[in-house]
Amino acid sequence: MIGPGKAIGVLGGGQLGRMFAHAAQELGYRVHVYEPSGPSPAGAAADRQTCAPYDDLAALEAFARSVDVVTYEFENIPAAPLKVIEGIVRLHPAPSVLHICQNRWREKAWLRDNGFPHARYAEALEGDVGAAVAELGLPCVVKTADFGYDGKGQMKLSGEDDLARAAAIFRGRRCVVEQWVAFEKELSVICARTESGEMRCFPAAENLHTNHILDVSIVPARVAPAVGAAAESLAMRIAEALGVVGLLAVEMFLAPGGELIVNELAPRPHNSGHWSIDGGETSQFEQHVRAVCGLPLGAAGVRSPTVMVNILGDAWTWSDGVVTGDPDWSAILAEPRAKLHLYGKPAPRPGRKMGHFTVQAPDIGAALSVALALKARL
Ligand code: AMP
Repeated sequence: MIGPGKAIGVLGGGQLGRMFAHAAQELGYRVHVYEPSGPSPAGAAADRQTCAPYDDLAALEAFARSVDVVTYEFENIPAAPLKVIEGIVRLHPAPSVLHICQNRWREKAWLRDNGFPHARYAEALEGDVGAAVAELGLPCVVKTADFGYDGKGQMKLSGEDDLARAAAIFRGRRCVVEQWVAFEKELSVICARTESGEMRCFPAAENLHTNHILDVSIVPARVAPAVGAAAESLAMRIAEALGVVGLLAVEMFLAPGGELIVNELAPRPHNSGHWSIDGGETSQFEQHVRAVCGLPLGAAGVRSPTVMVNILGDAWTWSDGVVTGDPDWSAILAEPRAKLHLYGKPAPRPGRKMGHFTVQAPDIGAALSVALALKARL
């Protein structure tokens, strides 16, 4: 066990690292963030930030030697730095987990080989999506195999016109083409697992996406108890099979027949778990700290039904591509059931996650109607 008072290293300086740092510090840990790009949301909250590229082996080594355990807050970390760190200090989740989850080809193949349900798909080399589409039929969705997140590197294909556009856009890229799932709902389950194999998962979140980006999460999900239980069980089986130490978020589609289909895995805190800071018995970030440090896991239930709404850069006032005004926070701040969380990012951009807010109420319907009314006023 790596007890409170020790130091945790975090690779990546985004908002997930920032909220992780807050949780770790509350428990008495020191946090050292490694972020190549410069001042960052996580670095601003951490005790220390190293700003150096991922191929600066001396900086990586010094970082690894300064902490007692290392984790990460995003998947797109190259393999070489992980090797350096692993040779010096514990690194959770293991690089083998990251290797699978950071590439859609490998992730889909892993799901298939391990018998987990996924959408029908085909690999498209060099962006030759035509053959894949012929195999799967329309509609479908093309996703780049690497470095895609928040709807980036994704395109839905509904007709023949889209096919020509996709062929041009994805030329030269390794892609996955997936059958479009006419889902009833999107769900996600975040599961925590320790090195000793203790596991606990948060209840399923119901997620609403806009333009392939998470917009709203509703917890508990409005599904039959058996569906929630099946989603939790599926996530735990995947976390166990992967041998994750830390958190694993499993995004799923609930198909009309009740079948659960895995969409994506993320071995880290997840946007759909932000509700847990205000509405959970333990937040996903504290649970992440507990899991990677080998502490007993916290209770993962819902203290109060909660709706989380993402705040994107689009909420700022724009004129000719330039920000001319901040959003009006007054309605959220005046609502006693709402909590505002901003990530301290200096430059809003359309589609960029700048913060979120949550609304809690005794029942989920009331929380949702208050949250949607506040969202409309942003
Ligand atoms: P992803 O980056 O794979 O998580 O995709 C982002 C969002 O796009 C998902 O949460 C869905 O809303 C939508 N999406 C992605 N793949 C599919 C699919 N095969 N069928 C239907 N919707 C999809």
